Amino acid sequence: MKQQTTQPMTEPVYTRAPYWQDVPDAKWMDWRWQMSNRLNTAVELEKVINLTDSERDALNANNLFRVDITPYFASLIDPDDPNCPVRKQVIPTAREMVPFQSMMEDSLAEDKHSPVPGLVHRYPDRVLMLITTQCASYCRYCTRSRIVGDPTQTFSRKEFDAQIEYIENTPQIRDVLLSGGDPMVLAPKQLDMILGRLRAIPHVEIIRIGSRVPVFLPMRVNAEFCDTVQKYHPFWLNIHVNHPKEITPELAAAMDRLTRAGVPVGNQSVLLAGVNDSVHIQRKLVHDLVKIRVRPYYLYQCDLVEGSGHFRTPVSKGIEIIEGLRGHTSGYAVPTYVVDAPGGGGKIPVMPNYVLTQAPGKVVLRNFEGFITTYAEPTDYDPHEIEAQDKLIARRPEPGQEGLLKLLDGEQMYIEPQGFSDVRARGGAEHRLRSGDIAQKWQPLGVGAIEQEQETKALEAPKEE
Ligand code: SF4
Repeated sequence: MKQQTTQPMTEPVYTRAPYWQDVPDAKWMDWRWQMSNRLNTAVELEKVINLTDSERDALNANNLFRVDITPYFASLIDPDDPNCPVRKQVIPTAREMVPFQSMMEDSLAEDKHSPVPGLVHRYPDRVLMLITTQCASYCRYCTRSRIVGDPTQTFSRKEFDAQIEYIENTPQIRDVLLSGGDPMVLAPKQLDMILGRLRAIPHVEIIRIGSRVPVFLPMRVNAEFCDTVQKYHPFWLNIHVNHPKEITPELAAAMDRLTRAGVPVGNQSVLLAGVNDSVHIQRKLVHDLVKIRVRPYYLYQCDLVEGSGHFRTPVSKGIEIIEGLRGHTSGYAVPTYVVDAPGGGGKIPVMPNYVLTQAPGKVVLRNFEGFITTYAEPTDYDPHEIEAQDKLIARRPEPGQEGLLKLLDGEQMYIEPQGFSDVRARGGAEHRLRSGDIAQKWQPLGVGAIEQEQETKALEAPKEE
């Protein structure tokens, strides 16, 4: 039987503010025209939006994080509502300049954890590769405001080559995430070259882009872009939508083109006070995302970054939102809520507590409605039954990053903070109870590779009568 193919979605009626009504459609839908006609001063913005005093003050301040707004995205702003959730994301107010306790310039310590400029290798098998500092528009809460928007901070060809070389020489990297700035503002040929260099590395299994361009500039997701990325499959893309107002017919059409090109698309949102810190807004957001075939992936707690103080919420707000999503809607519409660890520890998932208590053989759980149940655990479970199959799977190296898994795997019995034993030694001199060979008195039998040997020897040793 012949397979049915669905027809692509028809192009939408374009969303635009009255100020641009006379721009021909061909120009309006040209991403380069959008980039060249961005708004970045109070005078320009005032042609489209009625600015508040606080917004005007911020726009006229010195040392402000860069402002640029595409005409398309500016058209989504309610010109008369200072509380418009789209507006708050891209138009600064005086509150942005208020310092707050614990704020940092680089709160995720990305620059500290970069083996070469722009390459963050935080997790064992994947890297974040920053390739530009430019974006289509600038989010007021940006985690990378220390470099983003500043052309003098952008990455040189030499630095790019060093990033590629590091990936080539590090076989444990199987996943590369391109971000910035925004890789989708790069000239198409340049993006093609970068994707080509990465795809030529045999151990790089998947390539991802994290981009807000489809939201600021959906016209960039054109046939040329889709043709380019299709050459480098498996290629994944994460977009960044924070509020249902950003889901327009233009974005829907862009996602349709991308998914037809075989690109799995996810969404990352940031939890922002006054923008989306509501269970009902988040529920509408995730429902509208899955309708355009975008899977909600992460909901981020707002970082401790300069300029973002007024956007921050308590972590409990995020937990409340997940409480309002999990079970109340489809599982694939529920993002993972994460706190990106200040100081650079990576994403830490946070969620309501569903395990109420446990005892050997029983776990007591609650569901989203408050129904409490008991899961009876098997009494004859044999964790060794899988071992023969398990040994067939090659181990992936995670040098120094095995974490708690190392304790569960029996590789180690405890993890101690740096200097832990020295502190407890209290500066005392070596003495007969804690020196020389007898140090092995703290070696747990059967734990770790060396200990395995000892255990074997101990078991093989002839027993004394
Ligand atoms: S698009 Fe991303 S990198 Fe650019 S300003 Fe927004 S959050 Fe920052």
